[in-house]
Amino acid sequence: MFLAPLQSLLLPWSNIDSFFHSPVNNESLSGMLFFLLHFLHSALPFAMLILIGIHIMRCSRPILKTPNIITMAVIFMMLMVSIIKPATSAKPADLSRLPINIPFDWFFFFIYPVKSNLPKPIFWSMMTGVTLILFIMPWIKRHRPPAAQVVLEKCTGCDQCNKDCPYGAIRLQPRTDRLSYKMEAVIIPERCAACGICVGSCDFNAVNLSGMTDIQIKEEIINKPKILLLICEHSIRFNAIANIIKRMTNVKVISLPCIGTIQPAMIETGFKAGADGIFVCGCVMGDCHYRKGNIWLLARLRDIRPPFLNKKIDRHRIREYQLSPINTIQLVEEIHLFEEGLRVYNTSGYKRLQIT
Ligand code: SF4
Ligand code: SF4
Repeated sequence: MFLAPLQSLLLPWSNIDSFFHSPVNNESLSGMLFFLLHFLHSALPFAMLILIGIHIMRCSRPILKTPNIITMAVIFMMLMVSIIKPATSAKPADLSRLPINIPFDWFFFFIYPVKSNLPKPIFWSMMTGVTLILFIMPWIKRHRPPAAQVVLEKCTGCDQCNKDCPYGAIRLQPRTDRLSYKMEAVIIPERCAACGICVGSCDFNAVNLSGMTDIQIKEEIINKPKILLLICEHSIRFNAIANIIKRMTNVKVISLPCIGTIQPAMIETGFKAGADGIFVCGCVMGDCHYRKGNIWLLARLRDIRPPFLNKKIDRHRIREYQLSPINTIQLVEEIHLFEEGLRVYNTSGYKRLQIT
């Protein structure tokens, strides 16, 4: 697949000698243009492939295929534009005539009017400055929360965190302590986005986020809530509903960096602590801030992907909800509906199972 562009990239170079040594006339000019176009049509896609590779090298399981609906929409749009305003070629170059009316291509040549209207020093300072800024941008330090940490004595080397991490920030290595397990998990801090998805993956409580160990989350849960609201901080604008939620005294809110931070045992802890129902709110599918958090959580709750939820837990008491921050206010209504649903469910004879 990768050889085809490479071959077509090299093809014009076989004629490079004749290209540079042939006299410039109407015939050779067409050859030159063909060479240039051929080269650009091969080189640009090849360069794009390399850039795409660099762009996604940090992501595990990158999705390279665009959704069908977007592909169809783009094809339709291009088709329409080509019918309404077809791309036409200018007349062939004729070296015996002085060109007077040349069609101007704003798409490719937009910079020329800017260049001719600005003094040279200003134009070149601007170009150099913008190029430099774009070049150094990836190295500009942003505030990054501390990376997740593995508690080695609890790690069994089961590899689940490595399978779930969306950024390839975990690797397994041979054991460095005296425990009998073969492997141990190691976090690669410079890749870690502190999403907490690995906290949710680990059935052995062996991964912690700074300031949010799984023990701390469970301590928060054990607060006799009637409804436990586990919420991804990226799925809502919390300020918009903070006051309303504060007045809901029977709702205990725990905000998480990603909904994938939820380990099924946390849900169990919530019910053991006396919660009547647990409301789990994450980002809409395909829009997870950390790529995979909502997908993995759903799979965990549906018994498709480990760690699994205790079979004794009544699934009717768990509400999975997906929200976009622009619809934040809907959350309040959904919580009320959930509360009402639980009330009906309780009065119709379904008691909460005692999980021991
Ligand atoms: S999921 Fe937990 S136990 Fe398994 S390898 Fe990762 S840290 Fe270790
Ligand atoms: S916190 Fe997120 S990015 Fe960091 S190791 Fe865990 S899953 Fe990977």
